[in-house]
Amino acid sequence: MDVLAGIVKQYWGYDSFLPLQREAMACALDKRDSLVVLPTGGGKSLCFQAPAMAMDGMAIVVSPLLSLMKDQVDALRTNGVPAAKVDSTMTSAERNSVHHRILAREIKLLYVSPERLVQPSFIEYLGENSVSFFVIDEAHCISQWGHDFRPEYRELRKLREAFPGTAIHAFTATATAHVRNDIVGELQLRDASILIGSYDRPNLIYRVQRRADAYSQVRAIIDEHPDESGIVYCIRRADVDSLCEKLVEDGFKALPYHAGMKDAERKSNQEAFAKEDADIVVATVAFGMGIDKSNVRYVLHAAMPKSIEHYHQETGRAGRDGLPADCWLLYSYADFKLWEGIIRKGELQGAEVALRKLNDMKRYCDKSVCRHKALVAYFDQAYTAKPCGSCDVCLSQFGIVDVVDDTESIARTILDCIADLGSMAGPTYTTLVLTGSREERVLAKGHQALKKYGALASFGVPTVRDWIEQLVQQNYLDKTGEYNVLVLTPKGKAAMLGENVPQLARPLQQQARKIHTGFEQRKPKAPKVLPGVAVVFFGEVDEGLFQALRRLRRAKAEELEVPPFVIFSDAALRDMARRKPTNTTAFLEVSGVGQKKCEAFGDEFIGAIRTYCEDHPETVNNDEV
Ligand code: ADP
Ligand code: ZN
Repeated sequence: MDVLAGIVKQYWGYDSFLPLQREAMACALDKRDSLVVLPTGGGKSLCFQAPAMAMDGMAIVVSPLLSLMKDQVDALRTNGVPAAKVDSTMTSAERNSVHHRILAREIKLLYVSPERLVQPSFIEYLGENSVSFFVIDEAHCISQWGHDFRPEYRELRKLREAFPGTAIHAFTATATAHVRNDIVGELQLRDASILIGSYDRPNLIYRVQRRADAYSQVRAIIDEHPDESGIVYCIRRADVDSLCEKLVEDGFKALPYHAGMKDAERKSNQEAFAKEDADIVVATVAFGMGIDKSNVRYVLHAAMPKSIEHYHQETGRAGRDGLPADCWLLYSYADFKLWEGIIRKGELQGAEVALRKLNDMKRYCDKSVCRHKALVAYFDQAYTAKPCGSCDVCLSQFGIVDVVDDTESIARTILDCIADLGSMAGPTYTTLVLTGSREERVLAKGHQALKKYGALASFGVPTVRDWIEQLVQQNYLDKTGEYNVLVLTPKGKAAMLGENVPQLARPLQQQARKIHTGFEQRKPKAPKVLPGVAVVFFGEVDEGLFQALRRLRRAKAEELEVPPFVIFSDAALRDMARRKPTNTTAFLEVSGVGQKKCEAFGDEFIGAIRTYCEDHPETVNNDEV
């Protein structure tokens, strides 16, 4: 085993590398500048943390947020990696203690904020110590073209002058060619090795749906994830507050997060989410960068984000542990208008670019091409797995979703109604008629007298609205003019005569459970997905044991005052619940269990596994005896 692989196994408990990790680590060992672009969850941290352990000296990591720094340092220490941070929240006694450890050459990774790093006194101070290399995390913050510009990052250009001989490695999750050039230029990277990973996140299941009855749609999705962590994004602060209140009223552990709140409250809500005291955060875009939580099981956009970059990054916060996670996007034309207004009013300089991005986002929502493909195409990458098996478009096109039982009569009812309305109504109005709305505008036109008035009332507005959209996508209907008036296409007219049969799928939220079955059931069947699908299948995981281990993790986290994911990731707990190790040797084979964690937590977790197996003898893996 080579040195790096040995270190990764010993400290992190991983048996293999993720794509590009090895290449990125090689740059560090070769002291060659690099820019590494990997999506969220791609395993960027390990790319510099492992080489830092393998090399002489101390690696300096620049990170934009204090909370991120703290979590990373906690996580490293739990793995037995000597790491520390220097920031403004520390007392001078704490800073002195770090100082002593630096002088004693004990520290391998030091996290600092950009402001502090470029202070002349700090540069001088570092000069006397041997720095192995510099890491600029979230490097897109240096670019005005990125979505998170931070002026203090600009100062980092001083690094090259102050340390001409030390390599600089920049890391980011999102970078267009423009931003990449900015990073290389600003940091004055030399002959940098540029490593760009795939933007695809195969374990994320993307779905887009028109918003009709927002709250019931949101509820349907959240109800699919009882006791799991999720983020719900809204555009406006007021929407955050009202949605969050409703969820709390309905008994959910939800907390709000937006820039209008006091710092302390925001911070405490974020911590409650990390610690799993709250399951749901309802937030504006202000929420995100500070969270390193790997087991977010769903991200729900209750409204359309303003760019695909934002969407990619926000959905990227789901499923960082590589396990399946749901990304739902509910949108309506109103979102587009709202953003348009905000952009026209606010972003004077970049308005044109912002509007272009907004239009790209809208097109993504309206289009019915594979979401995985559309997303990577946006970042100029090709997508080959076809069909992906993990987006609404592919799932419905390739017969994985359920077709409703009486699809023919329902479709015909919709088409008849549109014919009766005489090609003068849009999808929303048609839905009102089909569901028997008592709204004034319907009654005023006397449409309650139509034959199909109320014919689909029992299915509810969102479902019927969705079906109309499905008929448009399948080319039975067309939307025309400024008001999206529905008209029958020749194919639609043929369907009315029974010459062909449209396929209407059950609304997606009703299927969510079915699509990523797997660990929910004790004796699971392989989920009905297609070859080449990358959704992780954890069929043999014992869900009861997983929950027991989760409880133990929470208790330990409280005791040690760290977030649960610092102890073990969900992926590690699932691997335990699959292998059921009952001794130390077997425990060390679990992915994500290194030497230090085995020593610190092994006995208790092995004990819990033993107890569980004794209480549930039917679940013990007989084939291992
Ligand atoms: P990023 O910073 O790119 O978003 P992280 O560094 O947070 O990604 O890593 C994402 C997850 O993948 C973490 O839970 C991490 O422990 C895990 N991980 C990283 N490298 C490996 C590996 N080689 N094998 C298994 N899991 C890994
Ligand atoms: Zn797809």
